[in-house]
Amino acid sequence: MKRIRPVLTSSSSRRSFLRAVGVGSVSLAALASCGPTQTALNGGGGGDEDGGDGDGGVDGDGDGDSGTLEPTCGELTEPNIEGPFFSEGSPERTSLREEGMAGVLFVVEGRVRSTDCEPILGAVLDFWQADDGGAYDNAGFELRGHQSVDGEGAYVLETIVPGHYLNGASYRPAHIHVTVKAPGFRSLTTQLYFAGDPYNGSDPFIRQSLIMDWVEGQTGEREATFDFVLARA
Ligand code: FE
Repeated sequence: MKRIRPVLTSSSSRRSFLRAVGVGSVSLAALASCGPTQTALNGGGGGDEDGGDGDGGVDGDGDGDSGTLEPTCGELTEPNIEGPFFSEGSPERTSLREEGMAGVLFVVEGRVRSTDCEPILGAVLDFWQADDGGAYDNAGFELRGHQSVDGEGAYVLETIVPGHYLNGASYRPAHIHVTVKAPGFRSLTTQLYFAGDPYNGSDPFIRQSLIMDWVEGQTGEREATFDFVLARA
């Protein structure tokens, strides 16, 4: 299994990482430390229901300048339903991809922070999701994994874009489930969604702040950033 865990120790190394995966026109301002909880790279998802900022992605905060972002990590990440498919005991890994696995490569990276923008060094993220066909592995741990943040509170997850599945009479939009836990902080259970998904508009569970904008790399992979902000216990 190919596992990739770029070490993101500074804004410049994060840029290098994004270049390495083929993301060429990223808003570097959007990658400034202590950036927004949901960072728009360049709105490449298209058709998203958040209305976008319409600025073509020059500037992640939409205020017209391309300088340093004001810290916005005071806003807590919204929780979202856990759903019925969480499994205890997922393996520790940063890549959920496996040999021969179908699906569009997706890489999301970001940081776990407190409301005062401090990185939470002890945070553990546990991800689980459906496969390309919309099925969960409830017998094993395919597309499930947990990881600890690095020395700067950063994480990187390499996976695939999840498929849609029926929930009652309607399909759920593509989403990745995650719990984020850290000593001294309230645990968070939430879901990450993809801008432009055809079912975003009809899903009863989706929250605007949890929709990731993404860019498409040179080989069709998707790339996004998402920071989690936890409340102190
Ligand atoms: Fe789900």
